[in-house]
Amino acid sequence: MAIKETSTPPRSRLISNILLAVSGAFLLVNLFLPNLFGAQVPAVPYSLFIHQVQEGEVSQVSIGQNQIRYQVKTEAGTPEQVFSTTPIFDLELPKLLEAKGVEFAATPPSRNGWFTSLLGWVIPPLIFVAIWQFFLARGANGPQGALSIGKSKAKVYVEGESERITFADVAGVEEAKTELVEIVDFLKTPARYTAIGAKIPKGVLLVGPPGTGKTLLAKAVAGEAGVPFFSISGSEFVELFVGVGSSRVRDLFDQAKKQAPCIVFIDELDAIGRSRSSNGMYGGNDEREQTLNQLLTEMDGFAATDATVIVLAATNRPEVLDQALLRPGRFDRQVLVDRPDLSGRDAILRIHAQKVKLGPDVDLKAIATRTPGFAGADLANLVNEAALLAARNQRLTVAQEDFAEAIERVVAGLEKKSRVLNETEKKIVAYHEVGHALVGALTTGNGRVEKISIVPRGMAALGYTLQLPTEDRFLLNETELRGQIATLLGGRSAEEVIFGSITTGASNDLQRATDLAERMVTTYGMSKVLGPLAYQQGQQAMFLGDSSNPRRMVSEDTAKAIDIEVKEIVETAHESALAILRLNQDLLETIATQLLETEVIEGETLQTLLGKVQSPNQTPVSHEVTV
Ligand code: ADP
Ligand code: MG
Ligand code: ZN
Repeated sequence: MAIKETSTPPRSRLISNILLAVSGAFLLVNLFLPNLFGAQVPAVPYSLFIHQVQEGEVSQVSIGQNQIRYQVKTEAGTPEQVFSTTPIFDLELPKLLEAKGVEFAATPPSRNGWFTSLLGWVIPPLIFVAIWQFFLARGANGPQGALSIGKSKAKVYVEGESERITFADVAGVEEAKTELVEIVDFLKTPARYTAIGAKIPKGVLLVGPPGTGKTLLAKAVAGEAGVPFFSISGSEFVELFVGVGSSRVRDLFDQAKKQAPCIVFIDELDAIGRSRSSNGMYGGNDEREQTLNQLLTEMDGFAATDATVIVLAATNRPEVLDQALLRPGRFDRQVLVDRPDLSGRDAILRIHAQKVKLGPDVDLKAIATRTPGFAGADLANLVNEAALLAARNQRLTVAQEDFAEAIERVVAGLEKKSRVLNETEKKIVAYHEVGHALVGALTTGNGRVEKISIVPRGMAALGYTLQLPTEDRFLLNETELRGQIATLLGGRSAEEVIFGSITTGASNDLQRATDLAERMVTTYGMSKVLGPLAYQQGQQAMFLGDSSNPRRMVSEDTAKAIDIEVKEIVETAHESALAILRLNQDLLETIATQLLETEVIEGETLQTLLGKVQSPNQTPVSHEVTV
């Protein structure tokens, strides 16, 4: 992709060129003045100078206003010796020099006369102007700013010049691609649609979580259609000077119309397009509102012209956008760009793995299986992390184990080998983690226990139990959720069973367990007592409303009932975790002892150990019956 900056206007180019030339001249003068006027020339008393002249040792003299510089006769081949001295008002000097046959001249006045004084007058204002311009540009355009205010900074990617992005570079978002293929067709053959009287859609909104490839898709559309691509980010519109945002929008569309057919891509649309009605909440923002209004005007405006300009925009918060943006004739098409599923992740990994050298044992499918919830950008990052690890380990190709470690890095944070636990703490952490693993092995819903470790990681975790799903799951049933809660409580329960006391280590587990239980009751309607009602307010209501209470208005009785239900769910899960661990106490001891020795247990060893877990009569599965 060739990137052209279209923004810097010629006039300010000229100014900066003049500035550059002048400061160049200044630099040169500064470099040469010392040589001419003696900073490096040894100074001698005037009397010595006269003495040397009289002795006939001096060959050349140059007389300046403030300094006399002279050269002493030397034998051929040795370097010149130059001295300086301060002149005294001495009318006899020229006669003396002439008498001794010394070559002499006055220093040309231009050397430190008018030229330097001119520089002295001209340079400071110029420097001032330059600094002023610099800050102005920074204010208007951000750090890399060109000397322009109010000009759009849109970058233009012109098709064909270097590597171009196509749909082949994007994977895992097949539905979005299908919709965008249509857009490509509009751009390629607009006549076919207009001939029949159809209006070509103007705005397409790409909606999806960060890193799922929205920007990439927009570029691919331009690449496939072979049209110029103007891209600007919403946050760039909203900057320092009032009125600049709206003039940028105008300017951007002017440029685009000249190059039609083309694509205008507005990234982070929510930065300008946030609902105007919600402004009250933030004290209003006139500047943004003007920019938004200008955008709406432009989008309506180019309907009149024949130019095919399609505006693509991306956001990860469609719910905050102003309704006016979404009405027909503007961004009436919405394309969902979602996180990839298993085969999508596989395909994305394949794309990015082309850029690195893979070892023979690498199984991308297996990696895809272990990375649910990863967006395209996460996967690209994962491949790179793995390559970095391989390089650090002096390997020539990336091996499967590099990927395994890279996944853990992303999932659980960096391994912190430097943090040392004392023996007692280590023991507690070991039992705690094995507690999670044993309960996790018996309950369904959160995958297979893959690894137990007491090597501290990340900011908070002292040890961890890694459970990775064996398949993509979108729906969980009540039993599975209860199983997850029991697993979360497994750590604390193990501490109770073994040590009879508990530590602060379980606070995060408790937080997550309680959250999950509360969601079961208030969001998923899984409580038999409270029925299938959603007591939690939706995202949108939370955003617009000014109440900080995420719960719907509920009666005092209901609130109490919710609390009781949540508590009941957590306690039941706790009971079943305790039951499992009491029954398997020997196994708990065995695995924990081994873990203390090896610090990490995984793979076959772990599966064999966990295969011995016995299920008590009251597993979480049978425990939940309440009518
Ligand atoms: P978004 O704009 O949705 O936040 P980007 O398009 O900027 O995400 O994605 C960042 C990078 O992640 C891309 O440049 C690409 O390398 C990678 N990536 C993201 N999604 C995909 C995808 N679906 N297929 C291939 N690569 C992807
Ligand atoms: Mg983006
Ligand atoms: Zn824990």
